[in-house]
Amino acid sequence: IEEALEPIILSQFTPDASGDERKRIGILGGTFNPPHLGHLLMAEQVGNQLELDEVWFMPTAKPPHAPGKTTIASQHRVQMIQLAIENNPLFKVQPYEIHRGGVNYTVDTMRHFVETYPESDFYFIIGSDSANDLSTWKQIDELVQLVQFVGVRRPGEFPYQGQYPILWVDSPLIELSSTEIRLRVYLEQSIRYQVPSKVAAYIQEHRLYEID
Ligand code: ATP
Repeated sequence: IEEALEPIILSQFTPDASGDERKRIGILGGTFNPPHLGHLLMAEQVGNQLELDEVWFMPTAKPPHAPGKTTIASQHRVQMIQLAIENNPLFKVQPYEIHRGGVNYTVDTMRHFVETYPESDFYFIIGSDSANDLSTWKQIDELVQLVQFVGVRRPGEFPYQGQYPILWVDSPLIELSSTEIRLRVYLEQSIRYQVPSKVAAYIQEHRLYEID
C-alpha cells in the first residue's frame, strides 16, 4: 500500500522558467486550534524544498464543527499562530478569511489572491487527510487551476488515490494533531515539545481547552 503513494514527484517540479520575478507563495490553511509542531515542520519542509518566498498560515474563520472540536475565538488562534511562527522570516499569518468571517471556501479565497497578486504563484499545502478529501471541496476543478496543491504525508492516512494533481513533498511523518493536543490539555497532560513553548504558555494563560 505504501508503494501506491509513491508519486513523490519532486523531480518533476520545475521552477517557473519565465524568471525570478514571479513570487512563490505557499499557503497552509487550517483551523490551527491550536497550531502545533506538525504544521511548522510541514511548512518549513515545503518552503525549503519548493524554494518558496513566503509561507502564509491561513486560519479558517469558522472551524468545522465535529465531535471533540472546541471552538475558540479566532483571535486566540491568530495569536497562537503569531507566537508559533515568530522568528521565521519565511512565515506569515494571513488573516483574510478571519476578517471576512463566516464560512469561506478555498476557491473563493484563492480567486481573490490570484487577482490581487497577479505576479505570484500559489502553492496550497495540505496533509494527506485533506488530500483524500479534495473531491468534496467547492469547485475543485477551478481550484486546481488557481493553485498547485502540495501534499505532505500524515500518519494513519490512506495513500492518495485521487485524480487531482498534487506535488508530494518528503517530510518526516509527524503523528500530531490539534485534536490530540486539545485532549491532552483537557486531561492535564503535558504538551511540551508538541507545540512551541510560547503557544503552550498562551494556552495555559488563557485556560484554553480546559472545558469542552
Ligand atoms: P484537528 O485535529 O483539529 O482536525 P489538525 O491537526 O488536522 O487539526 P488543521 O489546522 O486542521 O490541524 O490542519 C491544517 C492542515 O495541516 C491540513 O491540511 C492538515 O492535513 C495538515 N496537517 C496537520 N497536522 C499534520 C501532520 N501532523 N502531518 C501532516 N499534515 C498535517
